[in-house]
Amino acid sequence: MRKNIVAGNWKMNKNLQEGVAFAKDLEAALAGKTLKCDVIIGTPFIHLASVASSTKLGVAAQNCADKASGAYTGEVSAAMVASTGAKYVILGHSERRTYYGETDAILKEKVLLALANGLSPIFCIGETKDEREKNVHFDVVKKQTVDALFELSAEDFSKIVMAYEPVWAIGTGLTATSAQAQEMHAYIRQTIADKYGKEVADNTSILYGGSANGGNAKELFACPDIDGGLIGGASLDVEKFIPVIEGF
Ligand code: PEP
Repeated sequence: MRKNIVAGNWKMNKNLQEGVAFAKDLEAALAGKTLKCDVIIGTPFIHLASVASSTKLGVAAQNCADKASGAYTGEVSAAMVASTGAKYVILGHSERRTYYGETDAILKEKVLLALANGLSPIFCIGETKDEREKNVHFDVVKKQTVDALFELSAEDFSKIVMAYEPVWAIGTGLTATSAQAQEMHAYIRQTIADKYGKEVADNTSILYGGSANGGNAKELFACPDIDGGLIGGASLDVEKFIPVIEGF
């Protein structure tokens, strides 16, 4: 069966010392609690090795290169990420798509390299406000999924964690209603089922992201097709992140 997952995305926040301290504090705060989900923290590259070696929490990079190795100054490869002990990589985040021009074609390469290096991509998809208003949100999400992922084998696809993140809800304080999120998650699961079959679809974790927090996590996570959250702002403080984790 699919896993429940709560994954934090620190984005470009926290220096190394702050990040390592956060991971230790979070692990200490969770010790002794019975968790109903896996907990992952998505850190900047420089934190990965230190956090992965000092905690048992899942660790994710927030990006990796679309090339395997070589003369690509400033890039960090999937192999390098894997060598830190991180097991996940967030790919396709709307901030990467918007600010760094990441297309579905580029993301397809990143996904292949991540998988080849044993990383599970947390693959983000989602529509803008304008696309939702034009009622093309289902088409947008389907295209992002098909173009970047649907040439994978069923075995490789089963290593992907999907994250539905409506762009209009990220960092804005506007959360999709649980009905809007559930509707889209069910659509994504059906899209996966149409391509890979019901078993693969049923085993795929689909996370919701977009201003999720301790106040709305419980209602979101209670929806049948919402298997957890990708959490930005509320993952930056242990006291704010724990109530999200306890949404399960
Ligand atoms: C994100 O960046 O993935 C995200 C969901 O951010 P926030 O929770 O701050 O909206």
